[in-house]
Amino acid sequence: MTDIALNEPATVTPSGPMIDPFGRHVSYLRVSVTDRCDFRCVYCMSEHMTFLPKRDLLSLEELDRLCSAFVSRGVRKLRITGGEPLVRKNILWLFQRLGRHLGTGALDELTVTTNGSQLARFAGDLHAAGVRRINVSLDTLDPAQFKAITRWGDFSTVMDGLDAADKAGLQVKINAVALKGVNEHEIEALMRFAHGRGYDLTLIETMPLGDIDGDRTDQYLPLSIVRARLLDRFTLEDIPYKTGGPARYVRVKETGGRLGFITPMTHNFCESCNRVRLTCTGTLYMCLGQEDAADLRTPLRASTSDAPLMRAIDEAITRKPKGHDFIIDRRTKTPAVQRHMSVTGG
Ligand code: SAM
Ligand code: SF4
Repeated sequence: MTDIALNEPATVTPSGPMIDPFGRHVSYLRVSVTDRCDFRCVYCMSEHMTFLPKRDLLSLEELDRLCSAFVSRGVRKLRITGGEPLVRKNILWLFQRLGRHLGTGALDELTVTTNGSQLARFAGDLHAAGVRRINVSLDTLDPAQFKAITRWGDFSTVMDGLDAADKAGLQVKINAVALKGVNEHEIEALMRFAHGRGYDLTLIETMPLGDIDGDRTDQYLPLSIVRARLLDRFTLEDIPYKTGGPARYVRVKETGGRLGFITPMTHNFCESCNRVRLTCTGTLYMCLGQEDAADLRTPLRASTSDAPLMRAIDEAITRKPKGHDFIIDRRTKTPAVQRHMSVTGG
């Protein structure tokens, strides 16, 4: 909490849509509400992480004010992520507050990306707050492998979470990071599992974000290879389906389900990038793969008026870069950016 009276409705200075120097309209905000997590996925974190001191975090009221400022500037889709968003204390309050923008029609969608560990507890309340679609990360169907990938996670808890999501009427999309030698032989099973339950499945290439304990070259599996292998057994029909994110979708004729590919490495999606990312300390990253960022916490706390904040947002959008320069190869030992995905929010 800050000493500013933030429970008052924020005075919004209207200043139009956010258009970057390349003509891209920013309409999607991802918010990492905590950098902490109850898992330690091998591609995301090292086992022993140093997390931000709690005093550096924006309060939930401040996050609401910031998100609402972005909604007033034309953000139509808000994704709450982390770290693990559902481990942040009282997080439901934020969903309930942000849900008001769905009611007014200012926001099209409020969604969450989660590891599923807390879903059994939260699914019903998320739906009641206005969430309709959720992304659940699941890289394997093998409980032992699940433990090996997440280090601290429990497979059956996530399965219970999926059951609760179904029961609550939440539409689920499964996200799986394709990992060489780890789950590459399970892609078909994951797809059949997801499609069998009526879920979309999206495959993701691992990105060089932050130091992890292992070598990323060992993990990296280009999705071009996965796609070519699937084509031996399945008919993949390109479809124009879009969720506002970077995935390119196909319809799998044999299962009837949708399969998405997020390919930042083999084919970047920067030309259509419509999003910016906010961290739990109020830092705005205009690109997942670049270090440049804007401090929104200082203008947020400087005044109960949103005018300084709006100016800071406008200035940040002028700095949105054309794209990222991810490389994973044996010669490039340092990650493209030092911060972990859990900081910027996936
Ligand atoms: N904890 C939640 C979860 O796992 O769904 C939300 C945050 S997590 C950082 C969001 C997504 O980023 C997950 O689907 C995860 O698999 C993915 N991710 C994490 N690190 C990644 C990396 N280095 N490359 C690609 N995807 C990554
Ligand atoms: Fe936690 Fe998600 Fe990162 Fe796994 S991918 S360690 S669940 S933040």
